[in-house]
Amino acid sequence: MQVKSSSFVISNTEVVKCPKSNLAEYAFIGRSNVGKSSLINALCNKKNLAKTSSRPGKTQLINHFLINKNWHLVDLPGFGYARVSKTQKNIFQKFITNYFKERTQLVTAFLLIDIRHEPQPIDLNFMRWLGENSIPFSIVFTKADKLKPMAIERNVSGYSKKLLETWETLPHHFITSSANRSGIEDILAYIGSLNQNLKVRL
Ligand code: GDP
Repeated sequence: MQVKSSSFVISNTEVVKCPKSNLAEYAFIGRSNVGKSSLINALCNKKNLAKTSSRPGKTQLINHFLINKNWHLVDLPGFGYARVSKTQKNIFQKFITNYFKERTQLVTAFLLIDIRHEPQPIDLNFMRWLGENSIPFSIVFTKADKLKPMAIERNVSGYSKKLLETWETLPHHFITSSANRSGIEDILAYIGSLNQNLKVRL
C-alpha cells in the first residue's frame, strides 16, 4: 500500500471523544523513546507528522491521523515513564485500557520494541493483557539499523524464546528501521491486506 495522503485529525485524553467514524483503525504503542514517532513519520513519509521527542512524560494523548482518506493511524502515548495506577499494576493508564476495550474500530495494534533490548516486563505484561482481552497485535522491532544482521537474528530469536514461555503461538513481527526504512513497506502491505479483508467481509 502506498500512503498518498496523511493528516492529523485530533488529540484526545478520553476514548469517548475519539472520532465517531467507522474507519478501520491501527494503533501504535510502545515505551517512551522506542522510536514510535519516527516510525509513524516513516510510514507516512512525512518528517513531522508525529512529534518526535525524547522528553519523558510528554502529554499523554490519543492522536488520530487520517491516511489515504480511508483509515486511521492512532499514535498512543508512550508508556514506561508515565504515572500508573496501582490497580493496573504498572501496565499503563486507564484511558489506554479504555481505548483498547472500547474502540471497536481497532483492527490491530502494533507494539513497538527496541530491538537492542532484552524483553522488558512492562512489554511482556502488556502483551499478556492484550491477549487476555483478545486484542490482536503485532510486534514491531525498531532501530534495526543499530545492529548487525547476526545480532538482529539473535535478539529476535531470544525474544521469541521468551514469548514461547507463555504464548502457544508467536505474534506476527516486523523488523524495522525508520532511519533506513527497512520493514516500513512490510507494515504498510500488512495494513493494506487487512483493509482489503475488511472490505471483502462487508
Ligand atoms: P518515541 O518517543 O517513541 O516517539 O521515539 P522517537 O521517534 O522520538 O525516537 C526516539 C529517539 O530514537 C530519537 O533520538 C530518534 O532519532 C531515535 N530513533 C528513532 N527511530 C530510529 C531508527 O530507526 N534508527 C535509529 N538509529 N534511531 C532511531
